[in-house]
Amino acid sequence: MRTIAVVGGSLAGLSAIRALRRQGFDGQVLVIGAEPHRPYDRPPLSKEFLAGSAGERDIALEADDEDLGAEWRFGVRATALRPGSRRIELSDGGSVEVDGIVLATGAVPRLLPGMEDRAGTHVLRTLDDARALRRDLRPGARLVVVGAGFIGAEVAATARGLGLDVTVVEAAPAPLAGPLGPRMGAIVSSLHADHGVRLLCGVGVAGLTGNGRVDGVALADGRTLPADVVLVGVGARPNVGWLAGSGLDVSDGVRCDAFGATDLPNVVAVGDCATWYDPALGRHHRVEHWSGAQERAAVAVATLLSGGTETRIARPPYFWSDQYDVRIQLTGHPHGYDSVVVEEGSADARDFLAVYRRQGDPVAVLALNHAKSFMRWRKQLATQAPTAAALQE
Ligand code: FAD
Repeated sequence: MRTIAVVGGSLAGLSAIRALRRQGFDGQVLVIGAEPHRPYDRPPLSKEFLAGSAGERDIALEADDEDLGAEWRFGVRATALRPGSRRIELSDGGSVEVDGIVLATGAVPRLLPGMEDRAGTHVLRTLDDARALRRDLRPGARLVVVGAGFIGAEVAATARGLGLDVTVVEAAPAPLAGPLGPRMGAIVSSLHADHGVRLLCGVGVAGLTGNGRVDGVALADGRTLPADVVLVGVGARPNVGWLAGSGLDVSDGVRCDAFGATDLPNVVAVGDCATWYDPALGRHHRVEHWSGAQERAAVAVATLLSGGTETRIARPPYFWSDQYDVRIQLTGHPHGYDSVVVEEGSADARDFLAVYRRQGDPVAVLALNHAKSFMRWRKQLATQAPTAAALQE
């Protein structure tokens, strides 16, 4: 293998290039990146960057003196992958044919109907999104956040810090109820309420109001919330439309085995665009978190370079989220848990560790401001994950 294309020049793509070089690949690496920017870190976009306490230099992902010997094409989008070959067509009219491909095209935010016709409505995924949102977050303005997932909850916290009047609308019974469950989600509710956020849970959004510029969010129960700015944080979908007709299964991201291999030889996928088989769950699962994009790149690259004999199983999913003065950390798979118990610290003080169990076995661990014990648990859960040998039995 002498030429490898990395499609998507962000966290997963950059981590893949680093892994290629670390694992001894000395051939040509071509990076195709739709954005005009060098790789930057997304987590600060809803936190320090949005708050104004970090600038663009602070969020660069590459070190100043880092030279991975890759050829970067910025602002160029891959538009098709020809089945039966590893030829990638590009938005600039050109194409490249390579020996191996790392797919790392991430995800794009889901939109609400009517956003495109109204100024003042935002999603948050890219640096350009963050710049635009930041311009609209003026003290005293009324911000309505639609969706209390991580991005919605973090933007609400940052906006309160900037002096906005913030209302969050969430269809589920509590913020982050999907990943954390309703009981732990209720603790996040109280965190926001204590900081003056108006939280409306269990109610859907019917649409946006305003001519030219948004002036409100209409709710399914008939109320309308006045708004100067609206942030829509209702999830993201994998950026895989360009792979239609390639022979890959892209029904919920690029379907991969537990090592990042796709159905096409010498093509691997990693990061938010990929749905890997998860042996702990016994099914495919798409992880949309920073450490998944970063850590799994090394596994996918080893798969690519070894022709599919990699046996390292990726660590269980992990994410963190910073809201106000609280760091939330979760690892494992809480899905299907039958008990969640605070085992250390105090939920009231928002300084605790809780363990999710299924039939007595720990399956996930949550911490609020309780990093030390959490890290011990994270290691422990990783050692309990199924091994590659078990997978082949
Ligand atoms: P992305 O970062 O989305 O990068 C994909 C790249 O591919 C993009 O540059 C895109 O333009 C490019 N691309 C797309 N299509 C094409 C194409 N056809 N051709 C070429 N290039 C293409 N995770 C946490 O664990 N903790 C956090 O606190 C946290 N905070 C976050 C805050 C925000 C605002 C956001 C948006 C995400 C946050 N995340 C967090 C998630 C984390 O940042 C993502 O999981 C991570 O960025 C995924 O990396 P990726 O490289 O797979 O995808």
